[in-house]
Amino acid sequence: METNKTSSKMWGKDIFWGLGYEFDPQWTLSKKQLELQKDLIKICKDIIRPQSIECDKNLTFPKQSFIALSKLGLLGLIIPIELGGLGENHTCAAMVAETIARYGCPSTAMCYVMHIASLSALLLHANKNAAFRNLLSRVNDEVLIGTIAYSDPSTGSHAWFPKSSNSQETENGWKVSKKASWVTSGGFADWYLIQTTSHEFEGNYSKLSCYLVFKDEVTTYPGLWNGLGMRGNQSGPLEINGIEIPKDRIVGKPNEASKTNNESPDIFYLLCSSACWNGVAMGLIDLGAKHTTKKKHEDIGMRIADYPSIQDYFGEMIAETNSCRMNCFFLANILDIKTDNCNWNLHENNSFFPRSELMIWFWQLKLNCTTNVSNNSDKVLHACGGSGYKPELEVERYLRDSKAGWIMAPTNEVLKQLLGKLSLLGPESLDAWNQKVNETILQNEINKMNKEKMREFGEFLIKKASF
Ligand SMILES: Cc1cc2nc3c(=O)[nH]c(=O)nc-3n(C[C@H](O)[C@H](O)[C@H](O)COP(=O)(O)OP(=O)(O)OC[C@H]3O[C@@H](n4cnc5c(N)ncnc54)[C@H](O)[C@@H]3O)c2cc1C
Repeated sequence: METNKTSSKMWGKDIFWGLGYEFDPQWTLSKKQLELQKDLIKICKDIIRPQSIECDKNLTFPKQSFIALSKLGLLGLIIPIELGGLGENHTCAAMVAETIARYGCPSTAMCYVMHIASLSALLLHANKNAAFRNLLSRVNDEVLIGTIAYSDPSTGSHAWFPKSSNSQETENGWKVSKKASWVTSGGFADWYLIQTTSHEFEGNYSKLSCYLVFKDEVTTYPGLWNGLGMRGNQSGPLEINGIEIPKDRIVGKPNEASKTNNESPDIFYLLCSSACWNGVAMGLIDLGAKHTTKKKHEDIGMRIADYPSIQDYFGEMIAETNSCRMNCFFLANILDIKTDNCNWNLHENNSFFPRSELMIWFWQLKLNCTTNVSNNSDKVLHACGGSGYKPELEVERYLRDSKAGWIMAPTNEVLKQLLGKLSLLGPESLDAWNQKVNETILQNEINKMNKEKMREFGEFLIKKASF
């Protein structure tokens, strides 16, 4: 079987030093998307990858890389052509996130993922909101970067539970307050998608609303950012202290944050971040292949790549990573089919929520891709030996970056719980907002009580109920 590197994958004037196109699902892309990918690989080589090393070293935000992406129109990738975007679909969004992460910079790719996910929330409601259309029409030309601030310091990775937030209705709009613990591009983004409790929430945390806020309305602490990897990400904290914003800055209707999240930002985040992790996984394989095919043990005349144990590592990594990529592009394609290639006009129909129906498939995708990239990073390090442990080979940087996927919300522990509970006990068991009494546990604890303890407990409940 002929598996030589395809000479068509170029790295500047040279043939690319990692795996060729024969290991890429190029047939999932249209002609236009293939051209875009080629141009993107070029700017990854010339601008984004050199920036990546700099961002990692000095904890700098990859602004130059975003300017380079805007030159290809990529900040407006999923914005309709009539609003100045490229009008591209889900498959293209996955391809772009994967390509930036693999050939360019994982941090830039993740900032880009958050940008695309936040854009999708505005696009979902843009047909009824002139202010959103105005912003969307300027995003690419003015290099306006968006992001998502959902994490809450008091509830950690339970991003659906914004305890440190509130909003009130005012005469002219909304007064919003929020604390977020981790915000990609925090302090460097031009606009933020935030989620707070609704103005009429009355202690019910399922009543949430989304808002659009601008950089001059938030307090960020970029100097505080310091992480193991994704160091260009600038995922620092954010605060909004009772600022008043106009009426048209609500994203969707009050209390309908879940509807918005499930249909646009959550799905785009899960799809594109999974693609990003697949890009990191392929990037690691590329780096590992480059080193192991070059380094030779002179005593026995063998290259590292000549050892069967090393070949096993690569065979396993390629097969598993490509399963993740196929899953990702398959789901992207299903979204394209369901939405007429990401036609946002279809959302003029208020009951059109085709993406939300697929949520559990995207949970599985995120779980698989982030687990795979974490495993790959260990295998590539093992395959490269001590050389992989040092920064020169770049494996060390990709390894540090690769570990963020697992812990980003929904964390892999949370996802396993969600999927396990859902499959065994049904949707009622999820109880995201902690509203349902667990009768089984309650009954079990009561059964342990003697009569005196029961009476004591009963009196306690009567006292509590009378307040
Ligand atoms: C590089 C990076 C970028 C990020 N960017 C953003 C961003 O742009 N916007 C944003 O909103 N957030 C962002 N986050 C935050 C992220 O999504 C998580 O909220 C955050 O990593 C959680 O950290 P924590 O310390 O609060 O974890 P904790 O919630 O304290 O988790 C600690 C441990 O408990 C486990 N755990 C928690 N709940 C459960 C449960 N119910 N069942 C079982 N196990 C559980 C977790 O899986 C984990 O193992 C980012 C994080 C990183 C690392």
